[in-house]
Amino acid sequence: MSQSVKGSNLRVDGNALWVDLMETAQYGGTPKGGIRRLTLTDEDRQVRDWFVRTCTDLGCEVSFDSMGNLFARRPGLDNALPPITMGSHLDTQPTGGKFDGILGVLGGLSVLRALHNSGYTTRHPIEVINWTNEEGSRFSPPMMCSGVFAGIFTEAEVLDKRDRAGIRFGDELDTIGYRGKEPCGQHPISAYFELHIEQGPILEAEDKTIGIVTGIQGARWYEVTVRGKDAHAGSTPMPLRHDALVASAGMIMAVSEVAKAHGPSAVGTVGLLENRPNSSNVVPGEVFFTIDIRDPDDAVVLQMEQELRGKLETIAQENSVELEIVQIWDAPAVHFDKACVGMVEEAATEHGYSARRIVSGPGHDAGYVAKVAPTAMIFVPCKDGLSHNEEESILQQDAEMGANVLLAAVLKADQTFDQ
Ligand SMILES: [Zn+2]
Repeated sequence: MSQSVKGSNLRVDGNALWVDLMETAQYGGTPKGGIRRLTLTDEDRQVRDWFVRTCTDLGCEVSFDSMGNLFARRPGLDNALPPITMGSHLDTQPTGGKFDGILGVLGGLSVLRALHNSGYTTRHPIEVINWTNEEGSRFSPPMMCSGVFAGIFTEAEVLDKRDRAGIRFGDELDTIGYRGKEPCGQHPISAYFELHIEQGPILEAEDKTIGIVTGIQGARWYEVTVRGKDAHAGSTPMPLRHDALVASAGMIMAVSEVAKAHGPSAVGTVGLLENRPNSSNVVPGEVFFTIDIRDPDDAVVLQMEQELRGKLETIAQENSVELEIVQIWDAPAVHFDKACVGMVEEAATEHGYSARRIVSGPGHDAGYVAKVAPTAMIFVPCKDGLSHNEEESILQQDAEMGANVLLAAVLKADQTFDQ
């Protein structure tokens, strides 16, 4: 079959994409210009209905699986091939912005529109996916339904999750009318591309438009309890103290030093601290704090953990206090598919957009999808790196360039993958 349009000439309609972003922002829109669109609420149903309507008007067929994940499908020449897919999430935080997740779904929609308007026919079917409950703020954990799709969680455990009001996930899915017959996870895909705002400051600081995301960094969280002895601040000589806060101060410095020693990629944070009894004339008897360490390389995360355990033990002994460390979370690093990352890079280069390789700090649906299909992500800058905030802001031209890279990467994947 001959194509009257060359794929490399195709561009998304940036104005239409922006209109879609602003139009859907009314579903759950807040007075401060953000969005409150918690998963499986009436606002979620409204934006889903809009998405189904809009994709249907572009000649797509929309289906949903047993977790309410939506698939808008544009047929290809060989519909026996699993689709090349794009997507992200339409749910938001309670005080979320207009772009986190939404750009990935509506950017995918802008790709469907470009194909539709040009009459370009792909080999594979092309699909845009809206993953249910990425944010995890109403029903925990986050990325719940891409997690079921990838076999991380079972359908039964997710259907039984309850929000803080005691309302069941499965019941709410029925209420909004988006529980499909297709069992979640039985939907083979050839490749997956997710366009997302960076949610960090690097692209903006370096004046780059496109982040070629190579993976998601590994993270480990710990809870640390340091036990000393409460004592009078006036009468207890320094050598006889068991000061839990002085010991903790050294430990907090150690977290920072270990992360810096593994820089520039490694990060280490103590973000929560409780000091007891927290009284101005009492030597602190007990301190509780958290440690969050991350690096794109799991071996580095492990190395940092070992160094920290050694340093913290030493500091505890020097200060005559007891130390307890409990690991509470372990998220291994995700490495995206080299071929898909290469397609994103080529797409950015061919368009002449300024770009750099980058590793994602936060988790994304793409992290789970990567377990079952070749996957990559595209980042665009957001103002001041601000996200999960009603003031989240991006430039229209950056949204358009990100979507153009998404379109070009999808067309490359369409030519490359034979399944
Ligand atoms: Zn997101």
